[in-house]
Amino acid sequence: MTPEAALDRIVHCLDRAHENSFRSRAWIRARDVVRSTDPDELADRARAGTLTELAGIGDASARVIAQAIAGERPAYIDKVERETVIEMSPETARYRAALRGDCHTHSTWSDGGATIEAMATTAIALGHEYMVLTDHSGRLTIAHGLDRERLLQQLDVLAELNAHLAPFRILTGMEVDILEDGGLDLDDDLLARLDVVVASVHSKLRMERRPMTERMVLAVSSPHVDILGHCTGRLIGRRPESVFDGDYVFAACARFGTAVEINSRPERLDPPEELLDLALSHGCYVSIDSDAHATGQLEWQPHGCQKAATSEVPIERILNTWTAEDLLAWTSAN
Ligand SMILES: [Zn+2]
Ligand SMILES: [Zn+2]
Repeated sequence: MTPEAALDRIVHCLDRAHENSFRSRAWIRARDVVRSTDPDELADRARAGTLTELAGIGDASARVIAQAIAGERPAYIDKVERETVIEMSPETARYRAALRGDCHTHSTWSDGGATIEAMATTAIALGHEYMVLTDHSGRLTIAHGLDRERLLQQLDVLAELNAHLAPFRILTGMEVDILEDGGLDLDDDLLARLDVVVASVHSKLRMERRPMTERMVLAVSSPHVDILGHCTGRLIGRRPESVFDGDYVFAACARFGTAVEINSRPERLDPPEELLDLALSHGCYVSIDSDAHATGQLEWQPHGCQKAATSEVPIERILNTWTAEDLLAWTSAN
Protein backbone atom coordinates (compact mmCIF):
# COMPACT_ATOMS: atom_id res chain seq x y z
CA MET A 1 0.00 0.00 0.00
CA THR A 2 1.44 3.39 -0.98
CA PRO A 3 1.32 6.30 1.50
CA GLU A 4 -1.21 8.01 -0.73
CA ALA A 5 -3.44 4.92 -0.86
CA ALA A 6 -3.21 4.59 2.93
CA LEU A 7 -4.25 8.20 3.47
CA ASP A 8 -6.98 7.87 0.82
CA ARG A 9 -8.43 4.95 2.74
CA ILE A 10 -8.44 6.88 6.01
CA VAL A 11 -10.17 9.85 4.37
CA HIS A 12 -12.66 7.43 2.78
CA CYS A 13 -13.51 5.88 6.15
CA LEU A 14 -13.94 9.25 7.88
CA ASP A 15 -16.23 10.33 5.02
CA ARG A 16 -18.44 7.28 5.34
CA ALA A 17 -18.82 8.08 9.05
CA HIS A 18 -20.06 11.53 7.98
CA GLU A 19 -17.24 13.01 9.95
CA ASN A 20 -16.60 16.61 9.06
CA SER A 21 -14.27 17.55 11.82
CA PHE A 22 -10.83 18.90 12.48
CA ARG A 23 -9.62 15.30 12.36
CA SER A 24 -10.97 14.57 8.87
CA ARG A 25 -9.73 17.92 7.50
CA ALA A 26 -6.27 17.16 8.91
CA TRP A 27 -6.19 13.78 7.14
CA ILE A 28 -7.35 15.34 3.85
CA ARG A 29 -4.58 17.91 4.18
CA ALA A 30 -1.99 15.20 4.88
CA ARG A 31 -3.23 13.22 1.86
CA ASP A 32 -2.90 16.31 -0.36
CA VAL A 33 0.64 16.93 0.90
CA VAL A 34 1.63 13.34 0.12
CA ARG A 35 0.09 13.62 -3.35
CA SER A 36 2.17 16.66 -4.17
CA THR A 37 5.47 15.45 -2.66
CA ASP A 38 8.06 13.43 -4.55
CA PRO A 39 7.95 9.80 -3.29
CA ASP A 40 11.77 9.77 -2.98
CA GLU A 41 11.64 12.77 -0.67
CA LEU A 42 8.95 11.05 1.41
CA ALA A 43 11.11 7.92 1.68
CA ASP A 44 14.19 9.97 2.69
CA ARG A 45 12.20 11.84 5.28
CA ALA A 46 10.64 8.67 6.64
CA ARG A 47 14.14 7.24 7.14
CA ALA A 48 15.45 10.45 8.73
CA GLY A 49 12.33 10.93 10.85
CA THR A 50 11.65 14.38 9.40
CA LEU A 51 8.20 13.86 7.82
CA THR A 52 6.59 16.20 10.35
CA GLU A 53 8.72 19.05 9.02
CA LEU A 54 6.36 19.06 6.03
CA ALA A 55 3.50 21.50 6.68
CA GLY A 56 0.33 19.47 7.13
CA ILE A 57 2.00 16.27 8.35
CA GLY A 58 1.54 15.55 12.06
CA ASP A 59 2.68 12.67 14.24
CA ALA A 60 -0.21 10.38 13.33
CA SER A 61 0.02 10.93 9.57
CA ALA A 62 3.83 10.66 9.69
CA ARG A 63 3.46 7.24 11.35
CA VAL A 64 1.00 6.07 8.66
CA ILE A 65 3.29 7.28 5.87
CA ALA A 66 6.37 5.66 7.42
CA GLN A 67 4.59 2.34 7.97
CA ALA A 68 3.29 2.31 4.39
CA ILE A 69 6.77 3.03 3.04
CA ALA A 70 8.18 0.24 5.22
CA GLY A 71 5.70 -2.14 3.60
CA GLU A 72 3.65 -2.53 6.78
CA ARG A 73 -0.10 -2.10 7.02
CA PRO A 74 -0.58 1.13 8.99
CA ALA A 75 -2.22 0.30 12.32
CA TYR A 76 -4.31 3.47 12.19
CA ILE A 77 -6.20 2.12 9.16
CA ASP A 78 -7.52 -0.87 11.09
CA LYS A 79 -8.62 1.42 13.90
CA VAL A 80 -10.48 3.81 11.60
CA GLU A 81 -11.97 0.91 9.56
CA ARG A 82 -13.41 -0.52 12.79
CA GLU A 83 -14.68 2.80 14.11
CA THR A 84 -16.50 3.83 10.93
CA VAL A 85 -18.10 0.61 9.71
CA ILE A 86 -21.80 1.16 8.86
CA GLU A 87 -23.92 -1.32 10.80
CA MET A 88 -27.02 -2.79 9.13
CA SER A 89 -30.01 -4.68 10.48
CA PRO A 90 -30.78 -7.90 8.57
CA GLU A 91 -33.74 -6.18 6.85
CA THR A 92 -31.60 -3.21 5.80
CA ALA A 93 -28.89 -5.58 4.60
CA ARG A 94 -31.45 -7.39 2.44
CA TYR A 95 -32.24 -4.16 0.60
CA ARG A 96 -28.59 -3.18 0.32
CA ALA A 97 -27.71 -6.59 -1.11
CA ALA A 98 -30.36 -6.11 -3.81
CA LEU A 99 -28.83 -2.85 -5.09
CA ARG A 100 -26.82 -3.11 -8.29
CA GLY A 101 -25.97 0.55 -8.70
CA ASP A 102 -26.30 4.13 -7.56
CA CYS A 103 -28.25 6.73 -9.54
CA HIS A 104 -27.06 9.97 -7.91
CA THR A 105 -23.32 10.72 -7.57
CA HIS A 106 -21.05 13.74 -7.97
CA SER A 107 -17.43 14.26 -8.96
CA THR A 108 -14.84 17.05 -8.98
CA TRP A 109 -16.49 18.25 -12.20
CA SER A 110 -19.08 19.96 -9.95
CA ASP A 111 -18.85 20.10 -6.16
CA GLY A 112 -17.60 16.58 -5.43
CA GLY A 113 -14.25 15.88 -3.79
CA ALA A 114 -13.18 12.86 -5.84
CA THR A 115 -12.48 12.25 -9.51
CA ILE A 116 -14.94 10.33 -11.66
CA GLU A 117 -12.46 7.48 -11.81
CA ALA A 118 -12.02 7.33 -8.02
CA MET A 119 -15.80 7.31 -7.59
CA ALA A 120 -16.21 4.54 -10.17
CA THR A 121 -13.41 2.43 -8.70
CA THR A 122 -15.01 2.69 -5.27
CA ALA A 123 -18.42 1.81 -6.69
CA ILE A 124 -16.87 -1.29 -8.23
CA ALA A 125 -15.28 -2.23 -4.90
CA LEU A 126 -18.72 -1.89 -3.27
CA GLY A 127 -20.06 -4.47 -5.70
CA HIS A 128 -21.97 -2.13 -8.00
CA GLU A 129 -22.51 -2.91 -11.67
CA TYR A 130 -23.10 0.73 -12.58
CA MET A 131 -23.17 4.26 -11.29
CA VAL A 132 -24.96 7.24 -12.77
CA LEU A 133 -22.81 10.35 -12.72
CA THR A 134 -25.09 13.27 -11.92
CA ASP A 135 -23.04 16.41 -11.51
CA HIS A 136 -24.93 19.67 -11.02
CA SER A 137 -26.35 21.76 -13.86
CA GLY A 138 -25.01 25.18 -14.78
CA ARG A 139 -27.28 27.41 -12.73
CA LEU A 140 -25.89 26.06 -9.47
CA THR A 141 -22.75 28.18 -9.82
CA ILE A 142 -21.88 27.71 -6.13
CA ALA A 143 -21.44 24.01 -6.93
CA HIS A 144 -19.55 24.64 -10.21
CA GLY A 145 -22.50 23.32 -12.17
CA LEU A 146 -21.80 22.14 -15.71
CA ASP A 147 -22.95 24.21 -18.64
CA ARG A 148 -23.63 22.72 -22.05
CA GLU A 149 -19.97 22.81 -23.13
CA ARG A 150 -18.61 21.15 -20.02
CA LEU A 151 -21.30 18.49 -20.03
CA LEU A 152 -20.38 17.62 -23.62
CA GLN A 153 -16.72 17.36 -22.55
CA GLN A 154 -17.72 15.13 -19.66
CA LEU A 155 -19.62 12.82 -21.99
CA ASP A 156 -16.42 12.30 -24.00
CA VAL A 157 -14.46 11.55 -20.83
CA LEU A 158 -17.10 9.04 -19.74
CA ALA A 159 -16.96 7.24 -23.08
CA GLU A 160 -13.23 6.78 -22.61
CA LEU A 161 -13.49 5.71 -18.97
CA ASN A 162 -16.21 3.23 -19.82
CA ALA A 163 -13.95 1.57 -22.34
CA HIS A 164 -11.44 0.91 -19.52
CA LEU A 165 -13.84 0.02 -16.74
CA ALA A 166 -16.11 -2.44 -18.59
CA PRO A 167 -18.10 -4.45 -17.66
CA PHE A 168 -18.75 -1.75 -15.05
CA ARG A 169 -20.72 1.13 -16.54
CA ILE A 170 -20.80 4.79 -15.72
CA LEU A 171 -24.17 5.89 -17.02
CA THR A 172 -24.45 9.48 -18.16
CA GLY A 173 -26.63 11.85 -16.21
CA MET A 174 -27.06 15.12 -14.46
CA GLU A 175 -28.71 16.50 -11.35
CA VAL A 176 -30.65 19.17 -13.14
CA ASP A 177 -31.97 22.15 -11.24
CA ILE A 178 -35.72 22.59 -11.23
CA LEU A 179 -36.16 26.28 -12.08
CA GLU A 180 -38.68 28.46 -10.28
CA ASP A 181 -41.25 28.02 -13.05
CA GLY A 182 -40.83 24.23 -13.16
CA GLY A 183 -38.53 24.34 -16.19
CA LEU A 184 -35.25 22.44 -16.25
CA ASP A 185 -31.75 23.89 -16.28
CA LEU A 186 -30.52 22.08 -19.40
CA ASP A 187 -31.30 22.12 -23.11
CA ASP A 188 -33.80 19.52 -24.31
CA ASP A 189 -31.41 17.83 -26.73
CA LEU A 190 -28.95 17.11 -23.91
CA LEU A 191 -31.68 16.02 -21.51
CA ALA A 192 -32.75 13.56 -24.20
CA ARG A 193 -29.21 12.32 -24.69
CA LEU A 194 -28.44 11.52 -21.04
CA ASP A 195 -29.09 8.03 -19.70
CA VAL A 196 -30.64 9.11 -16.40
CA VAL A 197 -31.80 12.58 -15.33
CA VAL A 198 -32.29 13.46 -11.67
CA ALA A 199 -34.22 16.71 -11.14
CA SER A 200 -33.96 18.56 -7.84
CA VAL A 201 -35.07 21.81 -6.27
CA HIS A 202 -32.09 23.78 -4.93
CA SER A 203 -33.41 27.33 -4.94
CA LYS A 204 -36.48 29.14 -3.53
CA LEU A 205 -37.13 26.22 -1.20
CA ARG A 206 -39.52 28.35 0.88
CA MET A 207 -42.00 28.89 -1.96
CA GLU A 208 -45.70 28.86 -1.10
CA ARG A 209 -47.39 25.47 -1.22
CA ARG A 210 -49.35 26.03 -4.42
CA PRO A 211 -46.61 27.39 -6.69
CA MET A 212 -44.15 24.82 -5.27
CA THR A 213 -46.62 22.04 -6.12
CA GLU A 214 -47.07 23.40 -9.66
CA ARG A 215 -43.30 23.76 -10.05
CA MET A 216 -42.61 20.17 -9.02
CA VAL A 217 -45.53 18.66 -10.97
CA LEU A 218 -44.30 20.40 -14.10
CA ALA A 219 -40.73 19.18 -13.62
CA VAL A 220 -41.57 15.53 -12.92
CA SER A 221 -43.97 15.50 -15.88
CA SER A 222 -41.10 16.16 -18.26
CA PRO A 223 -40.45 13.09 -20.41
CA HIS A 224 -36.72 13.61 -19.74
CA VAL A 225 -36.84 13.49 -15.96
CA ASP A 226 -36.34 10.03 -14.49
CA ILE A 227 -35.87 10.66 -10.76
CA LEU A 228 -37.09 13.37 -8.40
CA GLY A 229 -34.11 14.11 -6.11
CA HIS A 230 -34.39 14.82 -2.34
CA CYS A 231 -37.98 16.04 -2.71
CA THR A 232 -38.40 18.14 0.45
CA GLY A 233 -34.95 19.72 0.42
CA ARG A 234 -34.74 19.38 4.20
CA LEU A 235 -31.43 19.39 6.05
CA ILE A 236 -32.14 17.71 9.35
CA GLY A 237 -31.81 20.20 12.22
CA ARG A 238 -30.87 23.01 9.82
CA ARG A 239 -33.51 23.52 7.15
CA PRO A 240 -37.18 22.58 7.23
CA GLU A 241 -39.00 20.62 4.54
CA SER A 242 -40.34 22.48 1.52
CA VAL A 243 -44.11 22.55 1.46
CA PHE A 244 -45.97 20.99 -1.46
CA ASP A 245 -49.05 18.86 -2.08
CA GLY A 246 -47.63 15.33 -2.12
CA ASP A 247 -50.79 13.87 -3.66
CA TYR A 248 -50.37 15.93 -6.83
CA VAL A 249 -46.60 15.57 -7.05
CA PHE A 250 -46.51 11.82 -6.50
CA ALA A 251 -49.54 11.20 -8.72
CA ALA A 252 -47.60 13.02 -11.45
CA CYS A 253 -44.49 10.95 -10.71
CA ALA A 254 -46.51 7.74 -11.02
CA ARG A 255 -48.31 8.92 -14.15
CA PHE A 256 -45.24 10.23 -15.97
CA GLY A 257 -42.71 7.59 -14.98
CA THR A 258 -40.53 9.57 -12.59
CA ALA A 259 -39.12 7.70 -9.61
CA VAL A 260 -38.98 9.24 -6.16
CA GLU A 261 -35.51 9.21 -4.70
CA ILE A 262 -34.73 8.02 -1.22
CA ASN A 263 -31.73 10.23 -0.56
CA SER A 264 -29.32 8.44 1.78
CA ARG A 265 -27.28 11.42 2.95
CA PRO A 266 -27.43 11.41 6.76
CA GLU A 267 -28.36 15.10 6.90
CA ARG A 268 -31.13 14.65 4.31
CA LEU A 269 -32.78 11.22 4.65
CA ASP A 270 -35.39 12.53 2.28
CA PRO A 271 -38.35 11.96 1.92
CA PRO A 272 -39.54 11.68 5.50
CA GLU A 273 -41.48 8.51 6.27
CA GLU A 274 -45.04 9.82 5.76
CA LEU A 275 -44.16 11.28 2.38
CA LEU A 276 -42.40 8.11 1.28
CA ASP A 277 -45.47 6.11 2.29
CA LEU A 278 -47.63 8.54 0.31
CA ALA A 279 -45.42 8.13 -2.77
CA LEU A 280 -45.69 4.34 -2.47
CA SER A 281 -49.47 4.54 -2.12
CA HIS A 282 -49.52 6.38 -5.46
CA GLY A 283 -47.56 3.53 -7.04
CA CYS A 284 -44.30 5.44 -7.51
CA TYR A 285 -41.01 3.79 -8.29
CA VAL A 286 -38.14 4.49 -5.95
CA SER A 287 -34.38 4.91 -6.30
CA ILE A 288 -32.10 4.51 -3.27
CA ASP A 289 -29.22 6.88 -3.91
CA SER A 290 -26.14 7.96 -2.03
CA ASP A 291 -25.87 11.50 -3.51
CA ALA A 292 -22.17 10.92 -2.79
CA HIS A 293 -19.75 13.84 -3.10
CA ALA A 294 -16.74 11.71 -2.02
CA THR A 295 -15.81 8.05 -2.25
CA GLY A 296 -16.66 7.24 1.38
CA GLN A 297 -20.14 8.64 0.87
CA LEU A 298 -20.88 5.95 -1.72
CA GLU A 299 -21.23 3.73 1.34
CA TRP A 300 -24.26 5.67 2.58
CA GLN A 301 -26.94 3.66 0.74
CA PRO A 302 -27.67 1.57 3.87
CA HIS A 303 -29.21 4.72 5.42
CA GLY A 304 -31.67 4.85 2.53
CA CYS A 305 -32.15 1.09 2.67
CA GLN A 306 -33.17 1.40 6.30
CA LYS A 307 -35.91 3.86 5.27
CA ALA A 308 -37.00 1.49 2.48
CA ALA A 309 -37.16 -1.37 4.97
CA THR A 310 -39.23 0.68 7.42
CA SER A 311 -41.69 1.64 4.67
CA GLU A 312 -41.60 -1.89 3.22
CA VAL A 313 -40.82 -0.71 -0.30
CA PRO A 314 -41.29 -3.67 -2.66
CA ILE A 315 -37.78 -4.49 -3.91
CA GLU A 316 -38.92 -4.78 -7.52
CA ARG A 317 -40.06 -1.12 -7.43
CA ILE A 318 -36.52 0.07 -6.70
CA LEU A 319 -34.87 1.14 -9.97
CA ASN A 320 -31.34 0.48 -8.88
CA THR A 321 -32.00 -3.14 -8.04
CA TRP A 322 -32.42 -3.61 -11.79
CA THR A 323 -29.68 -4.33 -14.29
CA ALA A 324 -28.31 -1.37 -16.26
CA GLU A 325 -30.14 -2.67 -19.35
CA ASP A 326 -33.49 -2.79 -17.56
CA LEU A 327 -32.89 0.62 -16.02
CA LEU A 328 -32.05 2.13 -19.42
CA ALA A 329 -35.06 0.50 -21.03
CA TRP A 330 -37.24 2.05 -18.33
CA THR A 331 -35.73 5.53 -18.50
CA SER A 332 -35.92 5.69 -22.27
CA ALA A 333 -39.56 4.52 -22.22
CA ASN A 334 -40.46 7.00 -19.49
ZN1 LIG B 1 -29.15 18.09 -4.81
ZN1 LIG C 1 -26.71 15.71 -5.55
